[in-house]
Amino acid sequence: MLYQPQILEEALTLKADLGGDVDALAGGTDLLVALSRGQWRPKNVLDLSRVVERSEIRKADSRFSLAHGVTHAQLTRLPVRALAEAALSIGGPQIRNRGTLAGNLGTASPAGDGCVALLALHAEMELTRAGRGSRRLPVRDFFLDYRRTELRPEELITRVVVPADWTSAWHKIGKRGSVNISVVCAAVARSPQGRFGVAFGSVGPYPLTAPKTEALLNAAALTPELIDEAAAMAQTEVSPISDHRASAAYRRAMCGTLLRRLLTEHFLNGRD
Ligand SMILES: Cc1cc2nc3c(=O)[nH]c(=O)nc-3n(C[C@H](O)[C@H](O)[C@H](O)COP(=O)(O)OP(=O)(O)OC[C@H]3O[C@@H](n4cnc5c(N)ncnc54)[C@H](O)[C@@H]3O)c2cc1C
Repeated sequence: MLYQPQILEEALTLKADLGGDVDALAGGTDLLVALSRGQWRPKNVLDLSRVVERSEIRKADSRFSLAHGVTHAQLTRLPVRALAEAALSIGGPQIRNRGTLAGNLGTASPAGDGCVALLALHAEMELTRAGRGSRRLPVRDFFLDYRRTELRPEELITRVVVPADWTSAWHKIGKRGSVNISVVCAAVARSPQGRFGVAFGSVGPYPLTAPKTEALLNAAALTPELIDEAAAMAQTEVSPISDHRASAAYRRAMCGTLLRRLLTEHFLNGRD
C-alpha cells in the first residue's frame, strides 16, 4: 500500500501505527536504486514527498532548523560551508533536487557526505513519534553500526538543527569530478568559542568522528606543528577497509592529508 500524506501529523500517525511495516520514502534516490536491484521489497510505503512543510528552513538563535524534506539542492545555498560543499558534491543536479538530508541520515551509508558534515558541525536531529513527541539527539549518537541507527520503527526524522555561526569546511576524494561516491571525505568545523569538530566518511562502518583529534585541537592554539600532530592522530582513529575503490592504507593516509589541508587552508591564522 502507498500512503501519500500531505501533512506531517498524518505521516507521523501512519508511521507510529504501522511501525516497521511501513518504510518512509523521501527523494527515493537510495530506495529506488535498492528497489530496482531487488534489495528493497516494502510491505507499505510512506511517501513523504507531498508533505507541505517538508522544505522549510528556519533560522533562530544562531541555528538553522531544517525540515525533513530539505534537499541537497537547497543545502548548496545554505551559508554553512561544510554542509553546502558536501551537498554540492552529491550526485548530479537530478539527485540533488530529489535527495534529502534526512534520507542521507536514514541510509546511514559510511560514505554519506551530508552525514560527515553534520558530525563535524555537532549538529542535532529531531526524531518524532506520534503521541510521544520529539526527542533531540546529537547526530553523533545516531549511528550505531553498519547501516544501523538510533531511529525506532515508529519514528520519523523530522528536523536537523545545524549551527549557523561555526566556521567549517569539507573535502572529498573520489574517482572522478562528479556523481562521485567518496573514497574518503572529511569535514572540519570550529565554534565561535574555538571548539573543533572533525569527521570522516568511507573509513569505517558508518560516518565517523575523531574525538582524540578534536581534543588535541581544542587544547592549544592552532599551529603548523599542532596540525601535523592532529593529522597523525586522525589516522589512528579511523578503521577503513580495502575495496575496489581504494586500499585501507591509502584511505588512512588520506584522512591525515585531508585534515592537514582543511586546517591549513581554512583555520590557520584565523583565515576564512
Ligand atoms: C547516482 C547517485 C549518486 C549519489 N551520490 C551520492 C554522493 O555523492 N554522496 C552521498 O552521500 N550520497 C549519494 N547518493 C545517495 C543518495 O542520493 C543520498 O543518500 C540521499 O541523501 C538520499 O536521500 P533520499 O531523500 O533520496 O532518501 P530515500 O531514498 O527516500 O531514503 C533513504 C533512507 O532514508 C529513510 N528516510 C528518508 N526520509 C526519512 C525520514 N524523514 N525519517 C526517517 N527515515 C527517512 C528511508 O526510509 C530510507 O531508509 C547518490 C545516489 C545516486 C542514485
